[in-house]
Amino acid sequence: MKRVWNEKKEILSREEAEKIRLRRLRKQLKYCYARSEFYKRKFDGVGFQPEDIRTWEDYRKIPPLMDKEEERQSQRESIERFGHPFGMHLCCPLEKIVVAKTTGGTTGLPTFSYSFTQHDFDRWNEGIARGYWLSGLRPGDRVLFCFPLSGGWAGSIVKSPLQYMGILCLDIGAETPIEKIVEYANVTRPNVLMSTPSFAEALIEAYPKLTGKPVAELGIRKLLLSGEPGVAIPSIRKRMEENFDGRWNDYLMINSEGFCSSCTAKEYQGLHEVALDLSIWSDDLIDPDTRKPIEVKNGAIGEGLITSLDREGLPLIKYKLGDVIQVFTKSCGCKYPGPGNRIKHIGRLNDRLFVEGVGVFPIAVRDVVTSFIPRVTGAMRIILTEPAPNVFPPLKVKVEHGPGVEPGQLPELAKEIEERMLQLYRVRSKVEFVPPEALGRVTKKTPLFEERYR
Ligand SMILES: [Zn+2]
Repeated sequence: MKRVWNEKKEILSREEAEKIRLRRLRKQLKYCYARSEFYKRKFDGVGFQPEDIRTWEDYRKIPPLMDKEEERQSQRESIERFGHPFGMHLCCPLEKIVVAKTTGGTTGLPTFSYSFTQHDFDRWNEGIARGYWLSGLRPGDRVLFCFPLSGGWAGSIVKSPLQYMGILCLDIGAETPIEKIVEYANVTRPNVLMSTPSFAEALIEAYPKLTGKPVAELGIRKLLLSGEPGVAIPSIRKRMEENFDGRWNDYLMINSEGFCSSCTAKEYQGLHEVALDLSIWSDDLIDPDTRKPIEVKNGAIGEGLITSLDREGLPLIKYKLGDVIQVFTKSCGCKYPGPGNRIKHIGRLNDRLFVEGVGVFPIAVRDVVTSFIPRVTGAMRIILTEPAPNVFPPLKVKVEHGPGVEPGQLPELAKEIEERMLQLYRVRSKVEFVPPEALGRVTKKTPLFEERYR
C-alpha cells in the first residue's frame, strides 16, 4: 500500500522541497509579469522585477498584492475591456480556460477563482487528491456528498478529485429534504460523508427519528467535514465520532489553492500542507494589521498570503485572503512524511470582534461554550446590538442549555462560562440561556451572530 497519494512529490526533505519551490516561484513570477498587464502593473507598483527574487527572503519582503475586492475589480475591468469575467490577471489565452466555477456570489460580483485550464484542472485534482488520501479516502470508497448546491466554494469542483482517485461520488444537495437524503443513503450505502459539520449534526438528529435506528447503522465510518470550524473543537468532534462510530477529518480549500488536510493522529493536529510544489500559504505569514512579515516558527499566528506555483490560467500572487491561521512547524505524531507545516484556522478577519479593544474571534467564543457540553448543547449565537467589529461590553452570548439542566443551575453555569471567557481571552461576556433546540438546526452554514441592531 502506498504511504501517500503521490510518493514522488510528497515525500521530500524540506531542503529539496524549498529548492523546487524557489525554482517554480521564479518561473511563475516571470510568467505572470510577461503575460498579464495586471501583474505587470502590480509588480511595477511595489518596485520589483521577477529577476530580483533570488531567495525566499527576497520574496517575503514584498507586500500583499491582491485581495478579494481587487480580484473583483480586476474582473470588472476584463468584462469591460475584453468581454470576459476572469479578470485582468488572466495569464493565458481565453480559449484555454475549460473549467469556470464561481465562489458564492451572494454579495457582489462572484469571483471566478475556480477557473482552470486543462493543466490547472489536473493540478487541482492532484493537489486535492493528496489531501483526500491523507484524510483516509481510498479508491473504492463511496462518498455521500451533501453540500448546499448553491454554497459557493464547496461546489462541484471538489468532487472531481474523487473521480480522479477512483472513488464513487453519491451527490445529493443539502437542500434536499432530509427524509429524501436518508432514503437515498439507505439504498446507496455510502461509507464516507462529505458535508458541513452542521449537516452532519442534522443527520445525527434526524436519522433515528426517521428510521428508529442510530445513525451509526448507516455504515458511514469516515467523515470529511468542511466549510465551517468544528473539528478543532474536541467536544464537537467527540460527539460526531461517537454517533457515527467513525473518524472525522477535515480539509480546507482556500480560494482554489492551499492544498491541505488533517491527518489520522489521535488528537487534532491541524491541517498538513500536502503540496509544497503547487502553492505557498503558511510560509508567507504577515501581521494582518501592520501587513509586515511574521517569522514562521512553531505556534506563530498571522495571515497567510497565497501564491500559486505552476498555475497557467489564473495564478494568485501574494493574495491576501483575510484568514488568520496558526502555523506549526514541529512534526505531529501521525508520521505523515511530507515536509509541509501544519495549519490551524483561527478565524476570518472580517469576523473579528473588539471588546474594549481586545480582539476575539467568534470561533474562540464557540470553543469556550462547547467545552461545557453536555451542560450546553453546543448551539450558540453572539448577539450584536451594534454593527461589528466594536462591541460595547459585555459581549452577549445566547446559549442553548443542555437537556436535563434545571433552571436553578443556570446562573452558576453562566458564571462559569463567563469566567472562562475572561480567563482565556480577557473578554467580559454575559451569557443568556435558551432551551435545547431553541436556536433551530440548519443543514447549511450555522450562523454565528444574531444581529439585533438590524
Ligand atoms: Zn499528522
